[in-house]
Amino acid sequence: AKADGRGACRFFEPAMDARLQERRRLELDLRRALAASEFELYYQPLVNAQSSEIIGFEALLRWNHPERGQVPPAEFIPLAEEIGLIIPLGEWVLRDACREAAAWPRKLKVAVNLSPVQFRSPTLLHTAVSALGMSGLSPHRLELEITESVLLHDSAATLALLHQLRALGVRIAMDDFGTGYSSLSYLRSFPFDKIKIDRSFVRELGEKSDCLAIVKAVAGLGASLGITTTAEGVETPEQLDRVREQGCTEVQGYLFSRPRPASEVRALIDSRSTWVGQAAR
Ligand code: C2E
Ligand code: CA
Ligand code: CA
Ligand code: CA
Repeated sequence: AKADGRGACRFFEPAMDARLQERRRLELDLRRALAASEFELYYQPLVNAQSSEIIGFEALLRWNHPERGQVPPAEFIPLAEEIGLIIPLGEWVLRDACREAAAWPRKLKVAVNLSPVQFRSPTLLHTAVSALGMSGLSPHRLELEITESVLLHDSAATLALLHQLRALGVRIAMDDFGTGYSSLSYLRSFPFDKIKIDRSFVRELGEKSDCLAIVKAVAGLGASLGITTTAEGVETPEQLDRVREQGCTEVQGYLFSRPRPASEVRALIDSRSTWVGQAAR
């Protein structure tokens, strides 16, 4: 039986090898990329739902690969998390986003995504303190976006860390709300400043009445708890109307702008023209 097993194994080896090799290549490539400064932050506007004014930008990570071109985060963040590279990469993101935002007008804030893995590292608090200190960015202009999965692990330690971050003056947003489990109990365990309603609910607002009901319920919940609610992934004027009607306080999506490089954000701010006004008309 053993020999059979080995035989069977050998039969599958080439495919397995190719997968492992590809993974190994990507891993080495990722480590190299961080040293070679191939990562870049793009920024997407966060917009006041009523006035359509830009109130800040979410930083979104991009990898400018010398051969593969631009690689989206979904293709490398999971591996970066697995091999621990998300820690130094996440530090770079936080520092770079704070540095960039410190040059914007004071009323604009910056939102930064944090991986659950960063929450299991003892360095996160220090990283945040030093990113704020080095940039001179006022803490209330920094918003950290976390997903529900953060609260799945060791919630006492996580809650303590969230409270410490909050004590710095930083705001905490719950990202992708509605896609995980027991979202409501998480809202009770930590006082979030913002709920971001996942794009999947906004996308089907027109077709599915349950999506409308969910957006309405979450916006209502936010209103009664005094929490900002952001509708993600707003692509059409109809979706914008609907999320406004339901009482979402902020919106974000391709209708206003795709994520853009920092230089374009600076040019926009300097020219005081509005991508947003153009898109929303
Ligand atoms: P997310 O935090 O939920 O970010 C929103 C994603 O939706 C972004 O994808 C954004 O480009 C996209 N998006 C925004 N508006 C629209 C729209 O109207 N329609 C559609 N179809 N998509 C829209 P992106 O940039 O590819 O990022 C994907 C995910 O990667 C993010 O989801 C976040 O979970 C993660 N990510 C991005 N940057 C970072 C980072 O710096 N650190 C960590 N840990 N995760 C990051
Ligand atoms: Ca986010
Ligand atoms: Ca999201
Ligand atoms: Ca998402």
